[in-house]
This record gives sequence, structure tokens and C-alpha cells, in this order.
Amino acid sequence: MAQAVDLVIVNGKVLTMDAAAPRAEAVALAAGKVFAVGSTADIRALAGPQTREIDAAGGSVLPGFIDSHVHLFQGSASLEFMGMEGVTGREAAMRTIRAFADANPDERLIVGVSTSYQLMDGRNPVRQDLDAILPDRPLALLAPDIHTVWANTKALELAGLLHGGPVPEGSIIVMAADGTATGELQETGAFGPVLRLSRTGGRDMLGYVTGNDPEPPATEAERAADRRLITKGLAHAAKHGITTMHNMDGNFYQLDLLGQIEAEGNLKCRMQVPFHLKNYDPLERMEEAAEMHRRYRGDTIWSGRVKMFMDGVIDSRTALMTRGYPGAPDITGEPVFEPDHFNEACIRADALGLQICVHAIGDLAVRRTLDGYGAAAKANGARDHRHRIEHIEVIHPDDLPRLAQMGVVASLQPRHSALGGHFPLIPQGTILHDDQYPYAFAWQRIRDTGAKVVFSTDWPVVPISVMETLQCAIAPLDPGAPWDSRAQSLTDTLESYTVGNAWVEFNEGRKGQLIAGQMGDVVVMDRDLEAVDPGQIGQAQVAFTICGGQVTYAA
Ligand SMILES: [Zn+2]
Repeated sequence: MAQAVDLVIVNGKVLTMDAAAPRAEAVALAAGKVFAVGSTADIRALAGPQTREIDAAGGSVLPGFIDSHVHLFQGSASLEFMGMEGVTGREAAMRTIRAFADANPDERLIVGVSTSYQLMDGRNPVRQDLDAILPDRPLALLAPDIHTVWANTKALELAGLLHGGPVPEGSIIVMAADGTATGELQETGAFGPVLRLSRTGGRDMLGYVTGNDPEPPATEAERAADRRLITKGLAHAAKHGITTMHNMDGNFYQLDLLGQIEAEGNLKCRMQVPFHLKNYDPLERMEEAAEMHRRYRGDTIWSGRVKMFMDGVIDSRTALMTRGYPGAPDITGEPVFEPDHFNEACIRADALGLQICVHAIGDLAVRRTLDGYGAAAKANGARDHRHRIEHIEVIHPDDLPRLAQMGVVASLQPRHSALGGHFPLIPQGTILHDDQYPYAFAWQRIRDTGAKVVFSTDWPVVPISVMETLQCAIAPLDPGAPWDSRAQSLTDTLESYTVGNAWVEFNEGRKGQLIAGQMGDVVVMDRDLEAVDPGQIGQAQVAFTICGGQVTYAA
């Protein structure tokens, strides 16, 4: 035996995601990498006395999952904040909030996550609703999409927002006729000051709200608290078979914490962290993105990507549309960046060799993002950029072919779609015009154009569970016309979570497949995914997660 094999996984249904040899029974790992793939007998023959054996017992064995759109710090914090998922109606809200407040007497700000729009018996809450539940302690409820916060009067007072105030373009403090804030705060520029009151000091949100580091710098105690929280989040991801995550918010602070977590031996997932450029940042800040790329370029923690926002979300009608929302012809959403400004930002990022990813939900936001990538290609020449568009909840038919033509990646989240069964169906005539439905959450239509489609969760917007996302993709709801529901194949969906997402991060040939020499990132499922009813696949559990040859989770 040429090399000591550390670990063998035998008796599995191995899906290698390698078209040349798609199936096997067993995998051997050595020195943190895949050493060999083959039959159980052949792989066992490679084992020595020190080799650990994992019996997959007929379960699927795959390359470790890559979730290409998460917010790790916020997701980690959400594991300890008040969960509002599934809470609907005033009575249920009161029970949940009061119970959490009683159980957490020292919590500086009660933060609720995944709060339903229309929480108050069919409408969004105002501060007086929340005051009736919790008058004497500050309370902030985050919408599932993290683009809206509803705050009570106490929280608004402490944050200095009760009488409004200046906010950056794209953010709104919703005001009542009497000149006070209603409690609804749209986008990070409006709700950032409230979340700074939380026990994390808003540091979990900072990479998302501003992309800046904490100011004043975090104390040693705060850093330790943040490391503990993020370590918990990484372990939570590993439990779902994840071995790599692409973060969608970033700052040097998070990268620094991750480096320390790695030094402590607790980095259970590889992490890519972008530079977050806001619309009010001078474009000279792009140099910081280049610096981040220079400083962080390993296989475990790296950067090299710029994140921007083009619009808001459809539920609050802040998604940027080519025409007014139904019944509201004048409301077309808010552009976060004006076109010239955005195009210049794209040109600069692209010229630095950075990958760009832009949150674009409405059809005009998607169009303007494509225009920005086009401007970059025109200015800098064509290159293999793999720029991404995040979400694409509605696309105009004219723009559909442009993704493939321009080599732009469609980064989609099946569980954000109403067809994913996680969020309620969008009532007809409220947000989408009937003729837009076939181009809303149009996974297959986009795939059919030849564009690269990859899937992710946007955790904590939806849970990080790969299997639940898989179920949404391969067994979506079919509410009938005007929706156009088209199931994704299991193979396409698994491809996006493995070899596809590895390609998106420029790591094709190095990870995302079970081929000798690739990174030793493997997931062992508790059952054969190909034998499961698609409508039940969300119940499949991870038996083992292995990252870089190390077992990071065992059921
Ligand atoms: Zn996101």
C-alpha cells in the first residue's frame, strides 16, 4: 500500500457526480483527500490497521454539499433568537413573545426571526400591536426575508427612530400620519440601528447591513461570544451534510473570527466570504475587496467575490419591476443602485478579477444587473467571470436568453418559491401580473436556456436543510394556472449542490465530485435517495459528514 488510508466508507450507493464513472460502492480517504473510489471489496483491501471504517449500509454517499448562498453569522444567531416560524395571528404571537421574554429576562432586545408578513390576523404589525404584547422591553421582529423589521415603541425610542430620520436610498422608515414611525422598517439602512441594541450588538448583521467591521472594535469578550455562536452555526450546517458555504455578507471581522475558529480546530465547513459593497460606499472601497482577496485565498477560508444589492423583496413591493404592481401602477419598487453607478461598480470589480454576485428579485433588477455585467465585459473584455445573480424571482421574457449568452450563473433558492411549500402562495392579483407567473421562480425555464442554475437556501431565510430544499425542487406544489410548476430532476438538483456549486466557486476538478485527488469532502445519507418517494425526501437524514477527511458530524 503506497499511502496510509485514514477512512473507508463501504456498502454505499455512491453517486460520484463524475459522468465518466457515476456509480460505486465505496470510497477511501487519505491525507484529507479522496484516495480511491470503487467496490466495497477493492476499497476494503486498501485499509490498514489504523483505518476507520464507516458502513454506509446502503445509504447514498455523495460529495459534501455546498450551500452557495447563506448568512452564517445571522444564521448562527437565529439558532438562539426567538423563532417566529409558523406563528400566525395576534394570540399566537402574544403567547410566543411573552414566553420567550419571560424565559430570557436579561435579553437586551427581544429579536424574533422568520416572522410572517401579516402576523396580526392578516396584516403587518404596527408598533402599537407590539406594545400591547410587550410594552416595557424593546422588541424587534425580523421578516423571513430579512428585508423588513417590525419594532415596538421601546425599541424605536432606544434606536432614535420614533420620529423618523435620514436613511440611505432604498431604505424606508415607514411613517404614520401623526409624524411618528409605524414600527415597520424596510431594508438594512432603516433597521440597522434597532438591531444594534441586541445582545450581539448587531455584529451578526454587520456584514449584511454595512459590510464594515464593528466600530468601536469588538472587545475580547465580544469576540469570544461571537466565535461561540459561529462555531455553533458551523456545526449546525455540518449536521445537514454541508462541507462548504458561500457567505453572502461579509467583512474582515467575520474572516478574522473564522480564522480563529479554524485555529481552535472548529471550522467544520469551508467558508467563502465576500466583500459587501453598499450603494452609498465610494467605489474606491473596491480596493478593500481586492485586499480581502489577497489576504484570504486558501481552500478553507477565502474571498474573491463582491456582493451587491439591486433591489428589495416582492412581499414589501420593494423588488424593482419593469411595470407597476397589480392595482398599483405607480409602485415599481426601489432601485438600490442607479444604473451608471452600478455599471461602474461592476466594471471595477471585474477589472480586479473578482467574481460579482448581486441580489436581484424583480424583473427590472435582473435586467439592470445583466446590463452591469455587460458593461463590465465591454470595458474589460470577455473572460470566464462566472458572475452570479441571486434569487431571480421574476425575469422578463426578453432577458431570459441573456443569462446563458453572457455566462451568468442563476443562483436560486427553491424554498423561497411559493411552490416550495414553505411560504404561502402569492394570492393572484397582488404581487404578480398573471402573465408574469410563468416567469416567476422559473427554475426550469432558466435551465432550458442553457444557463447554469445552482440551488441554495439563503439560511436563515429558510432552514439550511439540504434535503428539505431538495424536496421543494423535485416535488414542488402544483397549484395550477397561472403558475407554471415544473419539478427538477434529482440528478440536476444534486448536481447543483455538489459539482455545480464547486464550479461556481472556480473549484471544478478539485471538489464537488468523488474522484481520486479531490478534496475529501463526503456526505453519507441514512437512506438511498434514489429509492425515496420525492415527496418524502425531505425526511432523509445525514449519517456522517466528512470535510477534508475529518468527520465533522456523526448521527
Ligand atoms: Zn441572502
